[in-house]
Amino acid sequence: MVTKKMSIVQSNPQTDELPPRPSGELIEVRNPRTGQIDYDFNAPSEVELAARLGGLRHAQPRWAARPLEERIAILKRWRGKWVARQAEIIGALAHDTGRFLIATSEVASVLGMIDRWIASAPTLAQEEELRSATMPNISYRSQYVPYPLVGIISPWNFPVSLCFIDAIPALLAGCAVYIKPSEITPRFVAPVMRTIAAVPELAEVLHVQPGGRATGEQLVAGVDVVCFTGSVATGRIVAENAARNFIPAFLELGGNDPLVITASADLERATDVALRATCLATGQACQSLERVYVDRRIYEPFVALLVEKARRVEPNWPDIHEGTIGPFIFGKQADIVAAQIAEAVAKGARVLCGGNMEDHGGKWLRPTVLVDVNHDMRIMRDETFGPVIPVMAYDHVDEAIELANEGVYGLSAGVIAGTLEEAEVIGRRIDAGGVSLNDGSLTAMCHEMEKHSFKLSGMGGSRMGAAGYTRFFRRKVLIRQHGQPATMANIAESNLSTGKKS
Ligand code: NAD
Repeated sequence: MVTKKMSIVQSNPQTDELPPRPSGELIEVRNPRTGQIDYDFNAPSEVELAARLGGLRHAQPRWAARPLEERIAILKRWRGKWVARQAEIIGALAHDTGRFLIATSEVASVLGMIDRWIASAPTLAQEEELRSATMPNISYRSQYVPYPLVGIISPWNFPVSLCFIDAIPALLAGCAVYIKPSEITPRFVAPVMRTIAAVPELAEVLHVQPGGRATGEQLVAGVDVVCFTGSVATGRIVAENAARNFIPAFLELGGNDPLVITASADLERATDVALRATCLATGQACQSLERVYVDRRIYEPFVALLVEKARRVEPNWPDIHEGTIGPFIFGKQADIVAAQIAEAVAKGARVLCGGNMEDHGGKWLRPTVLVDVNHDMRIMRDETFGPVIPVMAYDHVDEAIELANEGVYGLSAGVIAGTLEEAEVIGRRIDAGGVSLNDGSLTAMCHEMEKHSFKLSGMGGSRMGAAGYTRFFRRKVLIRQHGQPATMANIAESNLSTGKKS
């Protein structure tokens, strides 16, 4: 914990006004649909961030001292404020991301998170009964002590849900929370801050303010736990900085999820899943499928049907309410995807559909099916984060599993087979934290089951399931001595030679 002396800023408990605009670095933001800069904000200055963290720390003991039912009641009131400002938040988020349906479902998902955690928190991390220890005359009781201040650093691909997925259980646990959303997608923050400002008890312990790298680094240095969602490269820096301060870092990082399709799979299902789970959110989802391995016996008809379906998918341009594929939220991501496709083609891959970046100011890519790919290509090894479906044939399921397990990532995977039993046999051998059977990317939709991110895809306890709440507590034990404490006489060396027992 950082114990530097700092001035503190507390929210005004009487109003629902936004805190004043910070005065740090001015950051300009591009509209993902037009490519134009049409928004800017100031990151907090070093002094402002330190003061804000001080204010959160100052308020946290009172928050943690409230019974859980009170914190639940406050979050329920906050939920009501979200509902009241839903349209405003969705509008800002659609502006941030260039897509409407996902913006709507993201906002709904935050309401769902509040509902789920307020229902389950009372059954988790309950104060325990006194227990007898194995040592005579000793009993003990465990206490759950929340970390005082949690820092959350989130990416641009699901800007709202990835801010609150960890914040809601942390708040219920009794922590104060500072959220630093990505500087690429900051527009939703103002309406969300209004919902927080309308609940004064919450505004004392929850603050959301976008910023860039410098803000992120200062945050990691000033909190007691960091929850980071983003790339492996940044995650490594966050983990190193967290280790320097001896604070836990929960890291949810990138992936390169494989999909294995066996000869017994239903082709309609296999092609539907391969298309949807690679292209959802324009492929800008950590758990989107990124490479497909198909049994050679069904390879030709699979590819033909996949291409037929992929060709029917339209971008949501010019009307955000039409089509299916949104723009790249971050222009540089479009360049990364284009470079990966170009490299694969230079090494012998064929593009069967899609493949051309459509530039309307913002950039769109239709579903792009690639064949004749191999693991020498970055498109198969690296995270692509675009609507690209590279398909590779295999001759034996062992070969498919070996290919699926290659590489540095282990986030999630999918298997499609004729039966769930056949799919599970394969899924058990895949080196990833979540495997969808006869579907893909189910880990994005189901939050109640625990899972870890394998290999470089993450670190720390499960964000999902009960651990997503209990990881915000430290376990403390209160040990009772019912008999006589040991004295110096008990530990005298002479006890050994005289045979006296200590
Ligand atoms: P990123 O790593 O570039 O940035 C993530 C966040 O880190 C941003 O808020 C950024 O401002 C901040 N940041 C940058 N430098 C920092 C530093 N030195 N210290 C602290 N914070 C710093 O990631 P991105 O491009 O915004 O997001 C895309 C990545 O996120 C992809 O790799 C994707 O797979 C991953 N992701 C993972 C999950 C998951 O649950 N595993 C979910 C969504 C996205």
